[in-house]
Amino acid sequence: MFLPMLAALALSSPTVCIDPGHPSEVGNGTKGKLITELDAVWLVALELKPLLEAKGVKVVLTKAKKDEFVANRRRAEIANESKADLLLRLHCDAASGSGLATYYPSEVGTAKDGKKGPSEAVLRRSTAAAKAFHPVVIERLKGTLPDYGLKTDKQTLIGSQQGALTGSIYSEVPVLLVELCVLTNPKDEAVIASEAGRKKLAEALAAGTLAALAVKRG
Ligand SMILES: [Zn+2]
Repeated sequence: MFLPMLAALALSSPTVCIDPGHPSEVGNGTKGKLITELDAVWLVALELKPLLEAKGVKVVLTKAKKDEFVANRRRAEIANESKADLLLRLHCDAASGSGLATYYPSEVGTAKDGKKGPSEAVLRRSTAAAKAFHPVVIERLKGTLPDYGLKTDKQTLIGSQQGALTGSIYSEVPVLLVELCVLTNPKDEAVIASEAGRKKLAEALAAGTLAALAVKRG
């Protein structure tokens, strides 16, 4: 007897690993005058989780409590262990600009311990996910936060040194890092420090995530 149902089951219910950034080996992150990065990304993650679950997505968080220390390597391993279809890393920027930026790994990097990654397949799938995700998020945020760009890991400090971010190097699943806003910009901070702004961000991220999940496996 053939079991076509099994194939259908395997395709249902995608898994997303949401990674609220920090505390990690790089510290607690940045802070504004009203809210810290640690608080902001944790609150947005908690807002995003039920939105995805309502769409039939299984959600795994990389930590159980806001202040739980999880190294960036471990965060990727949690996504790998959960066989996530996407690892979505949430951070806030400290910079001179404004808006939301999405980063994806564009080449194989080498971590401090010599580990190389991600694989060519993960690079390809992360690129496709980023290109589906970012425009949808930006469209949803019109009037709330500007577009700060779709960028590669190489455009970050650590990425420029290693070739890719540590969380990308260890990821065996498609990975995106979102700098939700520039926390050192008062206009941006006002958005993420407000409940309404975080809700708007979570809704935009949910729409972008669903767009990324809809991309066929390359
Ligand atoms: Zn951060």
